[in-house]
Amino acid sequence: MKKPRTALKRTPFKNKARPSGIAHQSKPREGRARKKPDPNSPYQLKKADNRWSKVVREKADYKCLFCGRSGRDYNPDTGIPYVTNAHHMIPKGVSKFYRHNINNGICLCFYCHKHHEEWSPHANKTGFWKKLKKVAPVEYRWYMKRKDEVHPSVKVNYKQVASVMQDILDGKLLGEEEE
Ligand SMILES: [Zn+2]
Repeated sequence: MKKPRTALKRTPFKNKARPSGIAHQSKPREGRARKKPDPNSPYQLKKADNRWSKVVREKADYKCLFCGRSGRDYNPDTGIPYVTNAHHMIPKGVSKFYRHNINNGICLCFYCHKHHEEWSPHANKTGFWKKLKKVAPVEYRWYMKRKDEVHPSVKVNYKQVASVMQDILDGKLLGEEEE
């Protein structure tokens, strides 16, 4: 009995050898081929955050703004380099607008950042601002000028941010100091 034509159309290689050199290809999953990568995916955000942090710390030559310890030094007891962090003065959760602004970041060693009783921004907020005002008046003023700004309709593109940060790290862009 003759098969209906439609059945033959759907199974072109059923009774023939597959032409050599043509790899078997499964059908692409629904919508897969047309879907553009999301520039604001969590992956891109993480990349933008990491590069922002690196730019801030590079700019400070990995030196803690508060205690002067260098992230290029090694702990003599462990042989492990001291860790430096980039701290957001305007918190990243508060402002998308300033989250990746280099001037919003300061370089602190892990201890001063997270634990120092007298001036860690995460352990002693009041002490932190007092210390910042004293040792880094430029950064302090930058913060005071902008801390109450709101940017309700800010559009972000983290992929682009990550790319700009990489350009800065590669020395292609040298940001102007602003105050
Ligand atoms: Zn420190």
